[in-house]
Amino acid sequence: NTFAALGLAEPLLRALAESGYSTPTPIQQQAIPVVLGGRDLLAAAQTGTGKTAGFALPIIQQQMGHDKRARDGRPRVLILTPTRELAAQVEESVRTYAAHVPVRSFAVFGGVNINTQSRALRRPVEILVATPGRLLDHVNQGTIKLTDIETLVLDEADRMLDMGFIHDIKKIMAKLPAQRQNLLFSATFSAEIRSLAQGLLKDPASVDV
Ligand code: AMP
Repeated sequence: NTFAALGLAEPLLRALAESGYSTPTPIQQQAIPVVLGGRDLLAAAQTGTGKTAGFALPIIQQQMGHDKRARDGRPRVLILTPTRELAAQVEESVRTYAAHVPVRSFAVFGGVNINTQSRALRRPVEILVATPGRLLDHVNQGTIKLTDIETLVLDEADRMLDMGFIHDIKKIMAKLPAQRQNLLFSATFSAEIRSLAQGLLKDPASVDV
């Protein structure tokens, strides 16, 4: 029961050791091999279970495998979160785990100046963390293009629906390439979440912790 046994690469193991993580949590044990294997994932997990590292670590490893870096304004991974605070926190985690690899991340969320974000986005990033409304503003402005997205993560999908983001999520999904890996994390599973999952995920592995 180690991170190495889950198939994670040395520079990620080093970042985990520096973060003081010694043992993978149950969601990490289950999710990491599924994501590394390229499958879609439906995960039932509360906050505090280590779900962020459960998707961030294998996603960073997949991005390490690319021989070319992301193009300007065209991220390869999109992580959607319901709130600004969560977007900032998830991006901070990605940045920590990617400390020793050439995989870059950035977060866009409302409440801060969009032009400041647009200037920062002139530097390409592999992994974009975003709240739905601000992401659509950037897409409409042309500062972010979703044509290169390979992996979509919906984090705290139930909260996103509770906050009324379903139309924004559908608009975003319609702009993504059809061929991609999809991961959905939710603490609860209403009929609405099941319907979203059914429309989004192809033959998903399910994990429940
Ligand atoms: P999350 O559920 O992703 O919000 O993570 C909850 C907290 O657990 C965060 O503060 C993480 O830094 C921490 N954490 C995640 N995975 C591990 C692990 N394997 N060992 C120790 N702490 C962890």
